[in-house]
Amino acid sequence: MQTTKQVRHDWTKAEIQTIYDQPLLELIYQAAQTHRTWHKPNEVQLCTLLSVKTGGCPEDCAYCGQAARYHTDIKVQALLPTETVIEHAKKAKELGSTRFCMAAAWREVRNNSDFDRIIAMVKGVNDLGLEVCCTLGMLTEEQAIRLQEAGLHAYNHNLDTSEAYYDEIISTRKFDSRIKTIHNVRKAGITVCSGGIIGLGETHNDRISMLLTLATMPKHPESVPVNALARVKGTPLENNPKVDIWDMVRMIATARIVMPSSMVRLSAGRIEMTETEQAWCFMAGANSIFTGERETLLVTSNPGVAEDLRMFRNLGLTPMVKHEKTIACSHQALDPKFDDWENCCRCSLVLLRTDTPE
Ligand code: SF4
Repeated sequence: MQTTKQVRHDWTKAEIQTIYDQPLLELIYQAAQTHRTWHKPNEVQLCTLLSVKTGGCPEDCAYCGQAARYHTDIKVQALLPTETVIEHAKKAKELGSTRFCMAAAWREVRNNSDFDRIIAMVKGVNDLGLEVCCTLGMLTEEQAIRLQEAGLHAYNHNLDTSEAYYDEIISTRKFDSRIKTIHNVRKAGITVCSGGIIGLGETHNDRISMLLTLATMPKHPESVPVNALARVKGTPLENNPKVDIWDMVRMIATARIVMPSSMVRLSAGRIEMTETEQAWCFMAGANSIFTGERETLLVTSNPGVAEDLRMFRNLGLTPMVKHEKTIACSHQALDPKFDDWENCCRCSLVLLRTDTPE
């Protein structure tokens, strides 16, 4: 059991398998202990994910409704204006998010005017004091450096699944190219957000292999999203069975134990989970969710912020706070004694705990 503060990068597959295969309640107990050693167990980071360019993607990821080749209901949308994105980021901050992620359905970043606009978006969101994350497809080292210089905090590039199963899910690029982009991101000094999806038809062995790849990186991804497949009509995986909640919990708990210092993000699939099921995910070590005004996660449904904050109250969770002075709405002056979070009585925006004002 790993309850002392030691991050290991030398995990073997057999070790991870032993952790993963434990009786579930033992596994959750161990993960909860690890979680308490490394993190405040009742704090959960709120993140907002905005699709800044939607659909029309040339890739063939079998789970994705944004792939141009599948006949889905998703409307193609060109790159949003920078001002629109900044407005969404401001709103996300008002609603309590400390991280704002921008996603573009591209195979790779190209050195063109769209990339210049992404750079402007990164700068604008960074100026708001939010952690800025992007997911834009494959990235060269030079492009990563430009993003870093603009203030990018994190780059998301999921492994999706194991190396062995990768070709079953995506044929238009290789697993190695994912690793290469993650390497470029690291070299540029940007933090890494990388995880995967369960429910793609992979085996438990594939899930363990994916965790092994992440947990043996020279530096663990600071952020590890664990997604349950969102079955999008018109994609090859639309008829896959719904992911079993206990599979999700097992995956989160194992990720928490083998990458103890990382943020483990309970990502896609929450819309199909009850509050009780999500509570098990938090107990197993998840400490971040995606939420926001739009009630979408890219192109699939997601609970809205009001529903999430109700859940937080029921479970005694608090939104993780960036330690900076934050006034989330103009209706209520900061009370120096205010040391918790609550909703403003006039506009329902989230007021965040802050440092003592000057
Ligand atoms: S997951 Fe990303 S790369 Fe794959 S089809 Fe969807 S938008 Fe394109």
